[in-house]
Amino acid sequence: MSEPDCPNIAGCRLVNDPGLNIHPDQRQMYLESYCHGYSPGYEACCRFITKKSIFFCPDFVLPDSAMTLDEILDKIESEA
Ligand code: SF4
Repeated sequence: MSEPDCPNIAGCRLVNDPGLNIHPDQRQMYLESYCHGYSPGYEACCRFITKKSIFFCPDFVLPDSAMTLDEILDKIESEA
């Protein structure tokens, strides 16, 4: 059985935007663990969960961010 791919891969800036401020090793770890992997897999990705809830995901949210949705919304508002 092939590894599960996140349905957001084509549009996710963490995967597709080389200008995003993230170390290449860290990006690779996210790709292997979340975007294409089982451990913990895309359903546990904070970016996936955020996009599912509010239909977009800001750049400051990373797959293993420990922020609640309320905290993410507060930060978006404070930066607006
Ligand atoms: S970072 Fe999260 S939302 Fe983006 S492609 Fe990977 S698993 Fe999906």
